[in-house]
Amino acid sequence: AKVLLEVKNLKKYFHVGKNATLKAVDDVSFFIRKGETLGLVGESGCGKTTCGRTVMGMYSATGGEVLFDGVDIHKLNKTEKKEFTRRAQMIFQDPYASLNPRMTVGEIIGEGIDIHALYTGQERLDRIYHLLQLVGLNKEHATRFPHEFSGGQRQRIGIARSLAIEPEFIVCDEPISALDVSIQAQIVNLLVQLQKEFDLTYLFIAHDLSMVKHISDRVGVMYLGCLVELASSHDLYEKPLHPYTQALLSAIPIPDPEIERSKKRIKLEGEVPSPINPKPGCRFAERCRYAKPICHEQTPVLKEVEKEHYVACHLFD
Ligand code: SF4
Repeated sequence: AKVLLEVKNLKKYFHVGKNATLKAVDDVSFFIRKGETLGLVGESGCGKTTCGRTVMGMYSATGGEVLFDGVDIHKLNKTEKKEFTRRAQMIFQDPYASLNPRMTVGEIIGEGIDIHALYTGQERLDRIYHLLQLVGLNKEHATRFPHEFSGGQRQRIGIARSLAIEPEFIVCDEPISALDVSIQAQIVNLLVQLQKEFDLTYLFIAHDLSMVKHISDRVGVMYLGCLVELASSHDLYEKPLHPYTQALLSAIPIPDPEIERSKKRIKLEGEVPSPINPKPGCRFAERCRYAKPICHEQTPVLKEVEKEHYVACHLFD
């Protein structure tokens, strides 16, 4: 499949005070092929959400490029920008905060249809009903307000809203993190089903590797603004190369108690350091049990060490 989104050396810095720069996204590169899902994982503060928002053009980029269908989205004129927002949509972590409480569900879903003048009159209404049905709700829900729904249903409304204008690409920003575990699988299954039906491409952001396992074709792991490993889901879960990915994976409990007991757990020492004015070298060095002198001096760059398996670590120089 062709590459739909390409992020090249993307940087997003925030000036947070005199001589203090928060390097939220620091030289991140990846691509997503049409129809696939790239999972982007890391602890809070690793820059994954900022990365998603910069990819959507909600933040300007400090450096680098975001190419959507070959065109840098940070260089679009007004008309092109509108077209990009039709083709690329976002689903948010907190569906309640992102749904206007004073608008009915029908109005919320219809808003994008009106902005882009896709349908009017009965066609518009039918479209809204159809979208509700697609996400497992029904026609009667159109006249109700967001507070009348459960968290899972609200996320379904958020998904219907994002689908209303027939996008090709959706950034899913921790869409299941705020939901009950019992509801999470339902939402993931819905997203997978919609992806198949509409040939959607997803950037799926999550804080935990277990959440993206079943939805992602490939997974990227971020640590303090940097992408430290990127591989197919299979390779990443079966043979993680970066010490940080290994530690994250070892923390996921395995349902089989026998395997769980025999498993080696790698404990992550220390706290995540501050992303403000980061020290030179590998950002994981203070917590890494393999750290060598070079790790404190030179920042490792992401390189392909096996086919489509990328890692940023001096162990692989
Ligand atoms: Fe550890 Fe060095 Fe690799 Fe960083 S570069 S993960 S400190 S071995």
